[in-house]
Amino acid sequence: MPSVDNGTGRQLRYAIVGAGMAGILAGIKLKERGEDFTIYEKANRLGGTWRENRYPGLTCDVPAHAYTYSFEPYPEWKANYATGDEIETYFEMVAEKYGIMPYIRFGQEVVSVVWDEAGSYWKLGLGTGEQIEADVVIAASGVLHHPKIPAIPGLETFEGPAFHTARWDDEAPIDGARVGLIGCGSTGIQIVTAINKRVERLVHFQRSPQWIMPVQQFEYSDEEREAFRKDPSLMDAIRYSDEYIGNVRRFTNAIMDIEGPEIKQIEEVCQQYLDMKITDPELKAKLTPDYRAACKRLIYSWCYYDEVQHPAVYVETGGIAQVEPKGIRMQDGTFHELDTLVLATGFEADRFIRPTTVLGQGGRSLDEAWAVRPTAYYAVTIPGFPNFFMLNGPTGPVGNFSLIDIAERQWEYIDQLIDLLRKGEAKAIAPSTAAHDNYEERRIAAAKTTIFGSGCASWYLDATGVPASWPWSYDAFTEAMLAPMMEDYTLQA
Ligand code: NAP
Repeated sequence: MPSVDNGTGRQLRYAIVGAGMAGILAGIKLKERGEDFTIYEKANRLGGTWRENRYPGLTCDVPAHAYTYSFEPYPEWKANYATGDEIETYFEMVAEKYGIMPYIRFGQEVVSVVWDEAGSYWKLGLGTGEQIEADVVIAASGVLHHPKIPAIPGLETFEGPAFHTARWDDEAPIDGARVGLIGCGSTGIQIVTAINKRVERLVHFQRSPQWIMPVQQFEYSDEEREAFRKDPSLMDAIRYSDEYIGNVRRFTNAIMDIEGPEIKQIEEVCQQYLDMKITDPELKAKLTPDYRAACKRLIYSWCYYDEVQHPAVYVETGGIAQVEPKGIRMQDGTFHELDTLVLATGFEADRFIRPTTVLGQGGRSLDEAWAVRPTAYYAVTIPGFPNFFMLNGPTGPVGNFSLIDIAERQWEYIDQLIDLLRKGEAKAIAPSTAAHDNYEERRIAAAKTTIFGSGCASWYLDATGVPASWPWSYDAFTEAMLAPMMEDYTLQA
């Protein structure tokens, strides 16, 4: 059925892909406008990252009062840093409160998204074989959701449970067990702090050590929560405080100016924290990185250095030779006998909406458009893919500050583009190739000089070794999202 032009504008049909934080946000905003939308969610529950990740110790490292929608502060957070469970509960509460649940079709994977040139709309294919039409597609499918399974010889021969952290096996022996944990990004570090006292032995296989930025965890009292309920401005005061927003600004400046005072301060704080907490020279040598702080994603923790010194934890820094049925053999012949093997080995960070097949104008696929690296004009739109808008898409400031803040600002930008479609000023809108290429050229040049490009391996780097994310400041991002530069867009009647 074609969308309707009733003379006062078009009633558009929207397909939102994914019912995580960003998809729920898009739903709320469209519902406020009285629009006709459907959210397609491949799983049977909402929550995205916070549904898929259930590992022990899962905590968001953005302070809880900054990790909420700006329009829905949450007085109930128990502590400064919230657990994954609490966050999932928050999103469920918000989706209920804003009446989004009836708009979500659960268990519906979008497998193809194909542009119909003649009709200027998208045809979506679902896993069930059903075909859907939409004038606008919002790709809200998340960033880190395809687990990266390491290519370690013999992995499949392990006799006990072996699983990725985003596929946590609740039946796997942890209590009183010998557990192997491969990987020490944010996930691996949090797991150490949560299971070290439960296990008989935890062997933490560390290929590269991490810089740890100390942060303060504290609980909110009942009285404080009551005060938040009575006066929500108290929560805004935290969200917009210098402690949070000021830190975000300082951090993004630090990323950009790698000889500047802000990055020097981060490096000093991390080094001092390591010096203060780790006094055993052997362990300190193991935990001292040979790259600059913030090159890999900084680990924010209030307890890792204490917890890693628990007698049950052994940090193994040798090279893994192979996995065998009963454990892991190191290259020097050492054998670690294990009951459970946990893979905290990260995610394929360049997938975005893929493996969904997306075919834009002229039948050009997203795989072709992204043959070198995933890109998007200002992280939101792609030339040749009209009316296709991404939340937390490629080249955005993922990892630099709260993804909710990013998605909300991106929505404000997207909404202005969609408005042109609503008003009937165009049937299709996409950035010009020239504008996109100019943006990418500037972005890549800037990205190469950021701290992310200062000489370390991380998921921030694309396949060519260039940092994949937003290389400029927080204020540059918020300003860019205020209004699209319309001269960079091509409108099709
Ligand atoms: P990650 O940062 O990509 O870390 C993966 C770890 O696995 C690294 O230590 C890596 O070592 C290691 N590894 C990978 N393949 C290996 C192999 N074949 N042999 C040995 N080690 C191997 O993944 P993550 O910890 O899941 O975190 C991903 C991102 O998720 C974070 O950066 C963050 O953005 C997000 N996250 C956020 C929070 C939060 O609190 N907000 C919590 C968890 C995750 P190398 O360093 O040597 O490559």
